[in-house]
Amino acid sequence: MPARRPRARTIQYSGAASRASGLFSRARAPGIPGRNLLTRLYHHLVSGEIRRILHVDMDAFYASVEQRDAPELRGRPVVVGGQPTQRGVVAAASYEARKFGVRSAMPMSRAVRLCPRLVIVPPDFARYQAVSRQVFEIFRSATPLVEGVSLDEAYLDVTENVWREPLGMVVAQRLKQAIREATGLTASAGVAPNKFLAKIASGWQKPDGLTVIAPGRVERFLQQLPVEALSGVGPVTSRKLRAIGIRRLIDLRAAEAGRVREAVGSHYEWLHRLALGIDERPVRPCRETKSAGVERTFAEDLARFDEVRARVASMAATCAGWLARHDIFCRTVTVKIRYGDFTTITRSHSEPQPTREEAALVRRAVALLARTEAGLRPVRLAGVSVHGLSDAPERPAATSLTVTPRLPFDP
Ligand SMILES: [Mg+2]
Repeated sequence: MPARRPRARTIQYSGAASRASGLFSRARAPGIPGRNLLTRLYHHLVSGEIRRILHVDMDAFYASVEQRDAPELRGRPVVVGGQPTQRGVVAAASYEARKFGVRSAMPMSRAVRLCPRLVIVPPDFARYQAVSRQVFEIFRSATPLVEGVSLDEAYLDVTENVWREPLGMVVAQRLKQAIREATGLTASAGVAPNKFLAKIASGWQKPDGLTVIAPGRVERFLQQLPVEALSGVGPVTSRKLRAIGIRRLIDLRAAEAGRVREAVGSHYEWLHRLALGIDERPVRPCRETKSAGVERTFAEDLARFDEVRARVASMAATCAGWLARHDIFCRTVTVKIRYGDFTTITRSHSEPQPTREEAALVRRAVALLARTEAGLRPVRLAGVSVHGLSDAPERPAATSLTVTPRLPFDP
């Protein structure tokens, strides 16, 4: 038996079991007579009845929390993230900062060049998590079918909801108001018959927006939708599609499959279905997972850098495996180190393009470790986690949309 076996090993992601029990207890929510809510939701699913899907996204979340809690930051261009001298990345930008072209996932050095008066606030994830919990409680007050995408973003299936409200728009209004009352923050919501349209809708008018794509308007909406509006179509894919004459999503309907596959590879089938307005992905409450990670407390403190590096690399590989099993991608890798004297530090790195490639995650985790004092100070615990989870291997291009922020057919 090796001398240094991990004393404890925890894989921290939302346990399906506890989630499921929460689901069932909420399924007997007041106001819904008769069969249990889950049974009825299932019925809707199999009967093919049109769903009412919400996508709710907090506006400039981290930056808004900072501006809420520090009045002197209000009205100023604020970003949350690491210092430009430490190759920091913008995690969130206030709307004042966005006017200068500052965007999340942008290198901080570039953000500062765009806006020299930029106020950089270091992230306080514990505080954002606390607000996020409040917001998700509000979501679950409407339906147990809440699928978190990140701390500040979720899909809700409100086809059935505790208020027995038939209009998704009204549910969205109630949720937005409850969020504002509980947190003092604004959210933007999209209502549509499926997830991809709901997501586009929520980004259509920000901040404090509410956009509805009713079933009867879907086709007209699709007719004018540029390919860049899709999550899963980043700048690279978009350029490739435009190069073969595909500008709008519906151009994919008639496009020759072989040519499109050459340009976007396996994305083709997925995009082609979306072009037809088809997206049957259910809202999966177990995907409330916002991050996944592994951490280990070592039997004896590790003194040598290469010992810690080996552990961290293997934990990053475990995270990659987890992402693959859940068919999701991550933007952020975080390494946590607890030194022998119990001081704990974390180092994070975000990239604009989500990935789950093992080699890339290992390389990033090891690079983060190099920014700690591992090897100089004894290490008691190490951990690797992945955050900023998303369905698609490319970041949604919503922030770089050049189209007008209106529905195409609105007056
Ligand atoms: Mg947001």
